[in-house]
Amino acid sequence: MIEAPSPASTAEPAWQWPRAAYVHVPFCAHKCGYCDFASVAGFDHLADRYLAALDCEMADHLQHPREVDTIFVGGGTPTRLDARQLSELTRILGQWLIPAPGAEWTVEANPGTLDAEKADILAAAGVDRISLGAQSFRPESLKVLEREHGRPEVEKAVAIVRDRFPRWSLDLIFGVPGSSSADWERDLEIALEFGPSHLSCYGLVYEKGTRLWQGRERGEVRPLDEEVERAMYEHTIDRLTRAGLSMYEISNFAVPAHESRHNLVYWANEAYFGFGVGAARYERGVRTVNTRDLNAYLRRIESGQPATGPTEKLDPEARARETAVLMLRRIAIGLDRDDFHRRTGFKIDELAGAAIGRYRDLGYLIDDGPRLRLGREGIFLADGILAEFL
Ligand code: SF4
Repeated sequence: MIEAPSPASTAEPAWQWPRAAYVHVPFCAHKCGYCDFASVAGFDHLADRYLAALDCEMADHLQHPREVDTIFVGGGTPTRLDARQLSELTRILGQWLIPAPGAEWTVEANPGTLDAEKADILAAAGVDRISLGAQSFRPESLKVLEREHGRPEVEKAVAIVRDRFPRWSLDLIFGVPGSSSADWERDLEIALEFGPSHLSCYGLVYEKGTRLWQGRERGEVRPLDEEVERAMYEHTIDRLTRAGLSMYEISNFAVPAHESRHNLVYWANEAYFGFGVGAARYERGVRTVNTRDLNAYLRRIESGQPATGPTEKLDPEARARETAVLMLRRIAIGLDRDDFHRRTGFKIDELAGAAIGRYRDLGYLIDDGPRLRLGREGIFLADGILAEFL
């Protein structure tokens, strides 16, 4: 056991009090087969009640308006709300969250649910970044993922977004069963033709309990070979880097200054507010997660109860280890030894010196003295390497 940091080094650092807020909107047109998010289809009739509950939850928790540097409205599909409800959502957020000068405000949207009227409402409210869930342009992959849109809807959404928001991003998924490396390469080329300044490219995950996972368990869905997935990932890194989108996190690529500042808060293990069904918050080292059950969330908030479920308070060492893992996900910045020490009170070499030495010798970690970063091979083996820091 390593000695806990002195009280002076942990005394209410600024990064433990939130300057970021996440707000969850769970409604979707259809529950996709791979989806493990707190999302529901067929419950749009509860949207007005949900917005009123969000307002109550924010009022209870915040007490008065708070200044924040980033707001992220995710889902679910926030743009599944109709124009009036979207307007009400922005009114509620505007009441409790004050964007600091230059703040980033992102809203997730799905193609097929964003029209010009909704986009105008968001832009007028101060939203400056849209994250569009395209996932694929290949009809067969979209079918496997059970996504209801196609390339025409993405084209329409991009045209709407491009005219109104200075920054926007596309989400893509690789490793979809039945797809080849060439299919994925085509998806990437199509995405690049749209000219996004940010791309998130995730390898498909078989989350336990999802229909996709059940299909794999029954032998009806055959996952891609690991080597094919690795080739897809490798191509992603090389192609996007050539296109001027740097890999700033394991799954995220951006042109300079277009990184998601909100997600960088998570990867620095900084504090954040969280509101809505299934939302997590992290304040003063305590992480709480709201219930993922929409009806339970509504019942609790409407009866004056908190919607929170489990609370996790990590001890200082566990928190420092978690911080190391998150920081090392940042490919370009990595982990700055002094910054890590300042934030956690621990020296990374005392926490994980053996793992650092071993992976540095293997070339998986680049150690330039002040900083540690994942090397190219380390990126592909990140899950195993980072697990050792825990
Ligand atoms: S649109 Fe997104 S959040 Fe909604 S069900 Fe599909 S994957 Fe889940």
